[in-house]
Parts: sequence; C-alpha cells; structure tokens
Amino acid sequence: MSVKIPAQVINCQNFIDGQFQNGKGEKVEVTSPYNGKKIGEFMSATKSEVDAAVESAYKAQALWADVPMKERTKVMFNFRNILMRDLEEISHLKSSESGKCFEEGKAGLLKGIEVLEFAIALQNMDLGGRVEVSRGVSCEYRREPIGVVANITPFNFPAMVPMWTIPIALTLGNAYIWKPSEKTPLTSLKIAAALKEAGLPDGLFQVLQGGRETVEAIIDHKHVKAVGFVGSTKIAKMVYDRGTALGKRVLALGGAKNHIVLLPDANPDLAGIGISDSFTGCAGQRCMAASVLLAVGEVDAHIKKIIERASSLTLGKDMGAIITKAQVEFLRSAIDRAEKAGAKILLDGRKAKAPAGMEEGNWIGPTILDNIQPGSEAAQVELFGPVISIIRCQDITHAMKIENSVDYGNACSVFTQSGALAEKVIKMASTGMVGVNVGVPVPREPFSFGGINASKFGHGDITGHHSLDFWSNIKKVTIKWEKQNDNNWMS
Ligand code: NAD
Repeated sequence: MSVKIPAQVINCQNFIDGQFQNGKGEKVEVTSPYNGKKIGEFMSATKSEVDAAVESAYKAQALWADVPMKERTKVMFNFRNILMRDLEEISHLKSSESGKCFEEGKAGLLKGIEVLEFAIALQNMDLGGRVEVSRGVSCEYRREPIGVVANITPFNFPAMVPMWTIPIALTLGNAYIWKPSEKTPLTSLKIAAALKEAGLPDGLFQVLQGGRETVEAIIDHKHVKAVGFVGSTKIAKMVYDRGTALGKRVLALGGAKNHIVLLPDANPDLAGIGISDSFTGCAGQRCMAASVLLAVGEVDAHIKKIIERASSLTLGKDMGAIITKAQVEFLRSAIDRAEKAGAKILLDGRKAKAPAGMEEGNWIGPTILDNIQPGSEAAQVELFGPVISIIRCQDITHAMKIENSVDYGNACSVFTQSGALAEKVIKMASTGMVGVNVGVPVPREPFSFGGINASKFGHGDITGHHSLDFWSNIKKVTIKWEKQNDNNWMS
C-alpha cells in the first residue's frame, strides 16, 4: 500500500497536563522525506513549559503510585485496543514523516504494541518475593515506581522506540515525559490522544516538542529521576554524562555498525533474502541494519543472490526514503570516497531514480560495495542508509577480529548451516544481540533489547525483563512482628 501523506500541515503541539498546547519557543518545520513537502510544524517547548509539564507529572505521579497495578493495567488494555483500532492511520502518519514504507511503519507500531502486551502481562508476574528468614522475621522485595521519568527518541522509529518504554514505565507507576525527534513529531500526537482516550489521568503522560534546549531542561529538572535516550552515539554519550553528573539514572542507546558473517555453507536463498532485507529495510535507517558483510571464503553465489534481491526493489514501494537531503548527500559522498579508495561497486544506488511524482523527496537506491578495507570509513563509520560494505575474510577468526575492531556493539549475525560454527560466532561477537540465519536479530518480547560498547551507555536493557529494574526501584523490607499473646484481643 502506498503511504498517504498528510495534505494539510499538522500543528504538532506539546501535550501538557492532558491538554494540547502550542510551545513558546523556536518554530520548527517538518517535511516528508517522500516528497519534500511541509507536513507539520511546531513551536518548541521552552524551559518554563518543561517546568510546567514536570510539575504536573510530579503531582499526578503521587496519586498514580497508589493505584494498584491491576487498575493501571486496565488503562494499558484500553490503550492497546485504541492503537489496534487506529493501526492504519498511525502507520500512514509515521511513515510519511520518517520515510518508511507503509508495511514497515505498520510493523514498527506492531512491535511497539508487543511491548505494550508485555507491560500488560506484568500484573501476572511475580515482581517481588518474600521469604521467612528466621522465626517471625521475613524479608521481601517490593517493586516501586521511581517518580517522573523522561525519554528522548530518534526519528527512525517514531512509534516503536517510544513504545519500548511508555507502557512499561507507566504500568510500573511512573509519570512519563516524552521528547520525540524534531524530525518526526506527528506520531506523538496520536499516542498522546490514545492514552487520554484510554483513561490515563492527566499529567501522567506529557509530550514536549523541541531539540537540544528542551532535552537539557528535561534532564536538568530536579523531579526527573530517570532518563531514557535512543539516538546517535555522540548525543547518547552527552545525555548520559549530563544526567549521571546530576546523579540521575540514565540508559542511553546509541548508534551501530552491524556485521553479518557469511559462511560458504549457508543456504544461498535464505542468505540472499536475509542479508538484502537487512541492509535495505527502512532504507538502512535502523540501528539493527546490516552494514558490513564479512564474506568468509567462496561466497560469490550467495552475494549474487543478495544483488538480485536488492536490485529488484522499487523505490517508494519496497524501499522508502532517506530522512533529509543532507543525509542523502552524505551517503553519496561516502560511496564516492569508498570508490576512490578502491571499492568495487556491485550495485550503485547513486544511479537510482526518484519515484514518479516524488522527485523532490530524498532518494538513494541500495548500494553494495565490495573489497572494502577493514580500517576504512565504509567499514567503521555508521552511514545510516541502504549501503553494505563487503570485506573479504580468510576464516571466521579473521572475520571476528574485524567485527571486534568496531567501537559499536549492537548486532552481529551469521549465516551458516553449522551449529558449531554459529556457536563460534555467537561467542566471539562483541555485541549485545546476535542472530543465526536472521538478518535483523531484534529479540521479540519478553526478551530484552540492547547493545553494548558504544551502542549503549548505562546498565540494563531498554525492554523486556532487564528493563524492569531501570523503570522501578526495589525496596528491600525486613519485617518482625512481636509474637501475639493467645489472649490478645486480636485472637
Ligand atoms: P540523534 O542523536 O540526532 O537524535 C536523537 C534525539 O536526540 C532526538 O530527539 C533529538 O532531538 C535529540 N538531540 C539531538 N541533538 C541533541 C543535543 N545536542 N542535545 C540533546 N538532545 C539532542 O539521532 P537520530 O538521527 O534522530 O537517529 C538516528 C540514530 O539513532 C542512529 O545513530 C541510530 O543508530 C540510532 N538509533 C539507535 C537505536 C538503538 O536502539 N541503539 C535505535 C534507533 C536509532
């Protein structure tokens, strides 16, 4: 299905204390990567609006903390039903602002809804624990909310990435402040409206539009106790340093440079589809996209399949657009530089034509670069586009040495039919997530999502079981009651 791009410019207001309202800060315009047309605008939230939002969240959270989890979960059930009802509408909106194909937009929202279903299931899990440690004395864990928490998200998943944290943080009893990407603020209006319709009390969920100034005011606010961040490594590190210097809990996910190890025994058809879809899906703008192909031994038949699959994609239908014109220029220049450095271009996305009627959009086709050197830009830098760099390797040890040399640590996959060789790659990969015959090894709920090294600052993961300790506090309680007398009035 083609993406329905909004015909009118949408005013992306802040959502403070349950009301949509204009910001008082800088005006920002939002254009669709599909056709370059203006589809939205907003006025950034200033420090005074951040203060108002956090104060309102602080008051609301004190009451929410006393609402039993089963009651909080009822709101999340309603939220899920509303998102499912509006699935298509939201998928069109998020795709038009981020450049995704409609099906990719829908899949991202559905993945976010899986996290919501995990949060709904928390009510049925044993989240604490109690043991009688000696006669009449017991110790127990109680999971409690932190208070007001904040989350800052990137452009490339306008619904899924925020949905990694919104349902879990709210279900655990926190109030939530969200700062969406200034490039993709449209989806936040739908999520805020859905939570209000679901019955979430005003103040518990606030949306603040803006950029750096808004982010800094949120992090610095004394009532914001925990900060989640997803975006580039440079900003992730800045947010982590700023938040932790103030004594806050911060989990900041950064960029990536993901590898796929292709072994000669891999099924060529499975590898062709899996690897092509990994680097071309979302036009390569995802932190789990394959970026480097470590081709071990004789795998030219497999590479032929990757080229066939990638070159069959139609821009605007099977593969979406790039977020900005500047990013298209960066990708073109990175391909030029790789070519000058001796890369053989097996598939050249620079030659791709924009889809009819979308000539003003931001387009580049799938690009496959062969004979890349391990220390070069194409091997080390996150390009964030539909480009894959092939490095020829003698054996698995050679391949994994190259994989280990990159700063990032999100994902690594291997394509093989051998369990023993797959196991070797799993053990040697310097990443938080590993795949076997899977091009995009995103764990499904209840398994957690998260990388290591320069792909994540902070401890724990952002979803699943390993996120619960981030979005809550554990109170340790030791209880001793005096032994009751048999004649006591209570008996
Ligand atoms: P970005 O770092 O430019 O922006 C992310 C967020 O930070 C946005 O909300 C933005 O407004 C804010 N921001 C930008 N500059 C800031 C500053 N100076 N101070 C404070 N806040 C600032 O990232 P992006 O371009 O929107 O997203 C793409 C990046 O995100 C890629 O590097 C990608 O790998 C990464 N990403 C990582 C994951 C993951 O799970 N590790 C998931 C999705 C995207």
